[in-house]
Amino acid sequence: MSQHSSVTRPRRLSDISHFEREVDVLIVGYGGAGVCSAIESARAGARTLALEAAGGGGGTTAMSTAHLYLGGGTRVQKACGIDDSPEEMFRFIMACAEDPDEEKVRLYCEGSVAHFEWLVSLGVPFKDSIFRERVVFQPTDDCLLWSGNEKAWPFRELAVPAARGHKVQMEGDAGPLLFRVLSEAAAAAGAELLCDTRACALIEDDAGRVVGVVATHFGREVAFLARRGVVLSAGGFAMNPDMLRRHAPELLTPGVVPIGNPHDDGSGIQLGSSAGGAAVHMDACFLSVPFYPPSSHTRGIFVNAHGQRFVAEDSYHGRVGDHCRRQPEGRAYLILDDACYVPSEGGREVIAVEASIEALERALGMPESALVNSVAFFNRFAALGEDPLFHKSREWLAPLSHPPFAALECSFGKTWYPAFTLGGLGTRASGEVLTEAGEVVPGLFAAGRNACNIPRSASGYASGTCVGDATFFGRLAGRSAAASPPWK
Ligand SMILES: Cc1cc2nc3c(=O)[nH]c(=O)nc-3n(C[C@H](O)[C@H](O)[C@H](O)COP(=O)(O)OP(=O)(O)OC[C@H]3O[C@@H](n4cnc5c(N)ncnc54)[C@H](O)[C@@H]3O)c2cc1C
Repeated sequence: MSQHSSVTRPRRLSDISHFEREVDVLIVGYGGAGVCSAIESARAGARTLALEAAGGGGGTTAMSTAHLYLGGGTRVQKACGIDDSPEEMFRFIMACAEDPDEEKVRLYCEGSVAHFEWLVSLGVPFKDSIFRERVVFQPTDDCLLWSGNEKAWPFRELAVPAARGHKVQMEGDAGPLLFRVLSEAAAAAGAELLCDTRACALIEDDAGRVVGVVATHFGREVAFLARRGVVLSAGGFAMNPDMLRRHAPELLTPGVVPIGNPHDDGSGIQLGSSAGGAAVHMDACFLSVPFYPPSSHTRGIFVNAHGQRFVAEDSYHGRVGDHCRRQPEGRAYLILDDACYVPSEGGREVIAVEASIEALERALGMPESALVNSVAFFNRFAALGEDPLFHKSREWLAPLSHPPFAALECSFGKTWYPAFTLGGLGTRASGEVLTEAGEVVPGLFAAGRNACNIPRSASGYASGTCVGDATFFGRLAGRSAAASPPWK
């Protein structure tokens, strides 16, 4: 087990002499998935206790912007004139995802409007408005954002595009507000929370059923019995270098900045694995090269070290980041002309500015004529409003013809890439943790980044799928655990 999370193998029930508490459902980790599990479990009448390693709940969910990827015709979509249906949302997610779990995607899309209404019923505010500029997140309290690859090729041909990024109504990052409303609902439902309590081992009975958790609480080891189920909702593993080395080594590349809370150490995934749960898609991560705003940079072209384009620049920044990573030696540059370049605070470094594309090509050390030919080809068709190679939308097409020309450093390994992990335990849609052989680990459930549900790849990621998925499948896991037959 990793020294970064100090999880140990399961304890035998017969070895536990004293239980601090006995409950029906025990939740490990109180962020987005955990608090939603707690609400549903407590509302189902189960005695529910959440253990939280930090001094308070919230986790990465409370640090987030609080975009939730929801659709199928929510109140906000309708108010903003965005046509959507569960079927189009399903088509889009299936088209984007690598190795999607069809049953989970269908459930998520068909339950999306109801999930939105559930959040509203708890008091989570969403404004009936849309922010139309191309940004990573809107600075205002507006709700809807085109937060993925919906309008980029080939996805716009595979599903009718719709804006689905729903941000909780608050200027700036709304994660704290989202978590406050959810935790108040959990408390009102009767769920209890014990902070500064870090789960470090599961407890199994003689039949191999998970029946509790051993945790450390201010240096003391304490045991908790769960009569119906344990829900693992302890977040991802971006902060565990050992696990990253093993599963997602790209996140250790210079320049990549793993983001999340300090307890994103994979302990929940390790707890699940210790009981036989199989972790899946552990190499999957969100890996982004934020190059907009300013939105005008979308008019530029991304090229690799051979001067060749490789992605539609109107794709989501996470998809572009993933494509940059896959280029030879990770080298990637955004080429802009004077008409579309806008200096931006904290933006990508300008590594060359030249009066001609020939000079820029030389400055970047590219083979002769490589960039010149790419720009000439792009310009010829852009003037006609076409992009035969990557089908960038007309609204972003204009010849790069106004000197000087600039190259922005976007190379993977040389510049800032925020990242976090997406892999987790394989589960049924109900949250039941599965073994390698596809059998249920009795008594054990997982959700949020401890599981692997909707977001499964950098190239198909859309903002809002993590918090959307954590809250949606967290609820299912809480409900399933509460409905499990009691142990003894
Ligand atoms: C800056 C930032 C912004 C983001 N914005 C968005 C966004 O707008 N939309 C979106 O979809 N995604 C966003 N993400 C990703 C998203 O926030 C996370 O993937 C998601 O919130 C994870 O939810 P979770 O419930 O799985 O984990 P968390 O919310 O992190 O909760 C896990 C909890 O478990 C606790 N814990 C860990 N180990 C243990 C243990 N052993 N015992 C007990 N407790 C433990 C942690 O302290 C934490 O409180 C963002 C990420 C970052 C870093």
